[in-house]
Amino acid sequence: MQIKLAKKYGFCFGVKRAIQIAEKTKNSITLGPLIHNPKEISRLEVKFGVRVEEDTQMIKNGEHVIIRTHGIPKGDLEYLKTKDVQITDATCPYVTKPQEIVEFMSKEGYQIIIFGDKTHPEVKGVMSYSTTQPIVVSSLEELKEAKIGKKIALVSQTTKQANNLLQIASYLITHCYEARIFNTICNATLDNQESARELSKEVDVMIVVGGKTSSNTKQLLNIALQNCTDSYLVEDENDLDMRWFEGKNICGITAGASTPDWIIDKVKEKIQSL
Ligand code: SF4
Repeated sequence: MQIKLAKKYGFCFGVKRAIQIAEKTKNSITLGPLIHNPKEISRLEVKFGVRVEEDTQMIKNGEHVIIRTHGIPKGDLEYLKTKDVQITDATCPYVTKPQEIVEFMSKEGYQIIIFGDKTHPEVKGVMSYSTTQPIVVSSLEELKEAKIGKKIALVSQTTKQANNLLQIASYLITHCYEARIFNTICNATLDNQESARELSKEVDVMIVVGGKTSSNTKQLLNIALQNCTDSYLVEDENDLDMRWFEGKNICGITAGASTPDWIIDKVKEKIQSL
């Protein structure tokens, strides 16, 4: 089996930064998982005592809290600030940007439209910065059903595909009196997506390594499937099914932005051993 790696894959700057913060801040707590990769979260807990807490009410005075890469709702952050806890913000700057835009534009009287998944922590956080009720859509079809105002401001979840954002933006430009479009898709996501697209055209089977709840990993899988129908998402080498490789010669590997190299290496080694 010949293995080809995507030109750009794996850890992005925001995730690397968050992990460095967590490793330095031993025995701290993160509000929700720091990144969307359960294996890396367990490593941080075992090696550095970094625990995950889901509820702000459970955080006791004197603890050190790290804000995860996806950010948290504004109300949660304000609540934490009223407690006697140390806060280190590991929110990725690419996530802080749409939070700031949404807060500013909603105060300026623009109706906020977010292209994203309303159940995703990043989107929940961004929504909380709007001073009015934002509209969240995950597709153009959903947008067509929504009641939109005359003056709108559009932002995107950082991990969305640019061509889908473009469709949404085009619709708004032609249906609103004033449309302010902010491309808040992050560069790391764009680079990984473009590399996955290129590689998936050259291979017989494509493996995407990453957390199953990770939005950017799922987007990579969707992109790979457009060119290579034998594309699969695995969290680690144990998820590989040997039947996927029968009769195949070239295997492409890419990985989500929160997938560490040590997991990618194990996946690669197992495929190489075929
Ligand atoms: S994928 Fe982009 S937005 Fe998300 S943590 Fe990485 S750099 Fe930041």
